[in-house]
Amino acid sequence: MSQRFDLIVLGAGSAGLTVARRAAKLGARVALFDPDALGGTCVNRGCVPKKAMWFAAQWAQAQRLAADIGFAVTPAPLDWARFRRQRDDYIAGIRQRYAQRLEAEGIAVVPSAAHFVAADTVVDGDGTPYGAPQIVIATGARPRRLDIPGFGLGMLSDDIFALDAAPRHIAVVGGGYVAVEFACVMHALGCQVDLLVRGNLLSSFDDALVGELAAQMQARGIRIVRDAEVVAAQGTPGKIGLRDAGGAGHGAYDALLWAVGRTPNTDGLGLDAVDVALDAKGHVRVDAFQNTSVPGITAIGDVTGRHALTPVAVAAGHALAQRLFGGEPQARFDYEAIPSVVFAEPPLGGVGLTEREARACHGDAVRIHAGSYTPLQLMVAGHREQSMVKLVCVGEDERVLGIHALGPGSDELLQGFAVALRMGLRRRDLKA
Ligand SMILES: Cc1cc2nc3c(=O)[nH]c(=O)nc-3n(C[C@H](O)[C@H](O)[C@H](O)COP(=O)(O)OP(=O)(O)OC[C@H]3O[C@@H](n4cnc5c(N)ncnc54)[C@H](O)[C@@H]3O)c2cc1C
Repeated sequence: MSQRFDLIVLGAGSAGLTVARRAAKLGARVALFDPDALGGTCVNRGCVPKKAMWFAAQWAQAQRLAADIGFAVTPAPLDWARFRRQRDDYIAGIRQRYAQRLEAEGIAVVPSAAHFVAADTVVDGDGTPYGAPQIVIATGARPRRLDIPGFGLGMLSDDIFALDAAPRHIAVVGGGYVAVEFACVMHALGCQVDLLVRGNLLSSFDDALVGELAAQMQARGIRIVRDAEVVAAQGTPGKIGLRDAGGAGHGAYDALLWAVGRTPNTDGLGLDAVDVALDAKGHVRVDAFQNTSVPGITAIGDVTGRHALTPVAVAAGHALAQRLFGGEPQARFDYEAIPSVVFAEPPLGGVGLTEREARACHGDAVRIHAGSYTPLQLMVAGHREQSMVKLVCVGEDERVLGIHALGPGSDELLQGFAVALRMGLRRRDLKA
């Protein structure tokens, strides 16, 4: 006999915690499984420790700017060991608060991986069965590994948070936001950085702004090596060389970070046994209501491969709980116009369509309004880096389809505009 619940949730990351807690609040009896730390990627290996490092990088930059406008300061290096301790204490506090809340809310937390043995039953690591009419897959994703010689010489994004000191010279391999963010952060914190990119940099962001960001990164001293498909690493930890597909060598580096994508955690879940359909990359296929191919099994968050961001995972989890237990059969998360930021130096963000995407849908009806300026705080310090803002509009009444920004503050600025864009913003509204 299995223990029976109304809802079983696999994964206690941003998505799983939200659906579990909301469902419990609506009266459901919930079991939540996770073999790892509560909070999942965002809290333990993603947004939170990354943002802490990004803030440290901001303070490093601010010290340089302060010196440039006349403060008698010599920019000081970061005490990594102390920073790491403070950051890790903060994260431990978040985990502790989650544990307390889950207990108070009556959610049964099972500190184990689980896998399906039937559409309404999972078993934990000891083989104990648990059953529920609704099971949510919220098992997230992990850093992708390449099957190439010497891969083990490098770190994954999960490992970088354990650094106790800045490497002198680091190679970052990848062209997505994780690669760009760590390249910028490590550089601001005093490392020499080579960013090796196989294809396009930040391909889902606006081309013009990405071009300007790359130019500014290079002007600061980050070496961006294009068309570099790394096929092997060799050497020893602390003295690592890389070889690319064209036969060129790179390095030696004293540290290496692979940031080459994410792999969904769908292996080992027993999904074949219950016929849950996956896409070609192993993500769980879902419809607009997060239903998988099997009635009673839903999936949310990174494991579905749709906009892998914490607020998306949270919002999808909330909507799903409302639909299953809140008497709102039409509740679903709308995946349109989701703002997204690269915490680079300077930050880059966008919401809605890029110019390229808009032209593919609307052709010549697209109108672009772009401007650039140097923020006052940089001008006063004698710097000339440009910030950029770009509006992508369509039609006679210039409905805004996309807003893109590069420069200090663009990370915060975009959130409000994202709301306006979803409400049918016109360019005239912005002018007014
Ligand atoms: C370096 C980095 C920086 C990021 N920065 C940002 C950012 O600034 N802003 C932002 O919005 N997003 C950011 N993200 C993305 C964000 O972390 C994810 O979108 C978010 O964590 C997804 O939540 P999730 O619940 O889907 O998955 P996860 O948080 O990955 O949680 C999945 C959980 O499932 C558990 N699990 C796995 N297998 C099983 C099993 N068989 N049984 C039970 N449990 C299982 C795992 O242990 C894990 O705890 C970042 C990610 C990374 C890697």
